[in-house]
Amino acid sequence: MDDGATLIGRLQAELGADAVVTQASEMTGFVEDFRGRYKADALCVVQPGTTEQVSKVVRLCAAHGVAIVPQGGNTSLCGGAVPAAERQAPVIVSLSRMKGIRHLDAVNGSIEVEAGCVLQTVHDAAAAVGRLYPVSLGAEGSCQIGGTLSTNAGGTNVLRYGNTRDNVLGLEVVLADGSIWNGLKALRKNNTGLDLKQLFIGAEGTLGIITAATLKLHPLPTHHALAWFAPANPEAALHVLGMFQAACGSTLTAYEVMNRRQLDLVIEHVPGHRDPLEAEHEWHVLVELSDARDADTIEAALEQTLAEAADEGFLVDAVLANSEAQRASLWAIRHSVTEANKKTGVGLTTDCAVPVSSVPAFIEQATRAVHDIVPGLDIVIVGHMGDGNVHFIPMFSFDAWRALPNAAGLSARVKRSVNDVAHRLGGTFSAEHGVGQSGLPEMAHYKSFEELAMMRAIKLALDPHDLFNPGRLFP
Ligand SMILES: Cc1cc2nc3c(=O)[nH]c(=O)nc-3n(C[C@H](O)[C@H](O)[C@H](O)COP(=O)(O)OP(=O)(O)OC[C@H]3O[C@@H](n4cnc5c(N)ncnc54)[C@H](O)[C@@H]3O)c2cc1C
Repeated sequence: MDDGATLIGRLQAELGADAVVTQASEMTGFVEDFRGRYKADALCVVQPGTTEQVSKVVRLCAAHGVAIVPQGGNTSLCGGAVPAAERQAPVIVSLSRMKGIRHLDAVNGSIEVEAGCVLQTVHDAAAAVGRLYPVSLGAEGSCQIGGTLSTNAGGTNVLRYGNTRDNVLGLEVVLADGSIWNGLKALRKNNTGLDLKQLFIGAEGTLGIITAATLKLHPLPTHHALAWFAPANPEAALHVLGMFQAACGSTLTAYEVMNRRQLDLVIEHVPGHRDPLEAEHEWHVLVELSDARDADTIEAALEQTLAEAADEGFLVDAVLANSEAQRASLWAIRHSVTEANKKTGVGLTTDCAVPVSSVPAFIEQATRAVHDIVPGLDIVIVGHMGDGNVHFIPMFSFDAWRALPNAAGLSARVKRSVNDVAHRLGGTFSAEHGVGQSGLPEMAHYKSFEELAMMRAIKLALDPHDLFNPGRLFP
């Protein structure tokens, strides 16, 4: 028996045969990423049901010298959760069976969940007791808590509640030697040295396997006031954002932007959507206020701020959501962009963040930079303007992409030109999706020697034999 087969036999003996997937046909959904851009072999996929089983899997893989790729919902947009083609076939550890909610304490504002719990399930459990887990994104029906922690996911509520990192109280992690670190304290204050959980948040599965987390809950806002409006241009959208910040304070929850092209793609490719506004406009913003006590105040603030923006010429058209159904349908447009873009062609998705006040300059300069390389190329723009995160997506049709003599080289050049603009403006190439496989060259290019050296030292201390996600994050 070769070593791979021996390892599979031992994994089956520990977990039961039904928790170890070995047939290539059954592994498809695990070895290929969401957009079908990354695909590579795995030795097998294991689906442990408990933290102790994860620990046993880690010990066995370590003993056999076989790498581990932890996997959540496999919704990564940068090839993060699937094996890399040029490496030895790893064991994929899927957390999908570990989906329990262990404990919810509404007064403490905390919920302890297993890593495989789907984000939407956490939302529902919190809402049932009048609380909110605020991390919200288009993939929330399938991405898992472990994946959102490992990528430090952002989404549409960062403006008010921060990203995942800001909403975690504690973690449970299986380390590279198979030991289990129980750091599941539900405390808001704990000054006992280094805050170790922060190392694993955003580590993209390179330092350990997160098996459970204690998440922070907030009061559930029961009242929402939402508008969809057309700003005159990105500068005007920024100005109106400033008006909302001044007038609405912390009730300002989301401020999302998209260009005409993005809206058209959603209308064209995702059934049931139409332009929310009567006339065609080049730029669109979805703004939402929310509050736990009072609907009238936020509705009045929304209307008044929009009216003032219109009077001052920053806003050319707007519609208010008059019902919960209308609010849901406007949000559905925003949450359908990834599906629409996937059907449109090959989008060279970028994930830049710049200081919020630099967003218009970023859009203008990045457009110029891309058109200097490919004149007239379609540019799709959608972003979380309120936190400075813009997905600037140069888009090729499938036919144009196939006809390119060196598609990979051109893609790298185009993305680098966009990332360079963000870098010059004091920004980053990776705001919320993670680095994965697609961002690795950018890590080498933009991270300083000192940053990479500190990161490597931490990797060496926690995973000296490069067991977890080898080749990721550390170029
Ligand atoms: C339609 C759509 C919309 C999206 N919108 C957003 C958005 O607005 N904001 C945003 O931030 N992202 C967004 N994403 C990207 C993606 O959903 C997030 O990155 C999400 O956090 C990934 O969760 P996942 O469970 O699918 O993780 P996976 O894709 O399975 O894994 C992501 C990374 O985490 C590691 N990992 C997974 N689970 C564990 C674990 N338990 N322990 C250790 N490492 C682990 C993996 O190895 C990998 O490196 C979107 C994706 C889609 C498809």
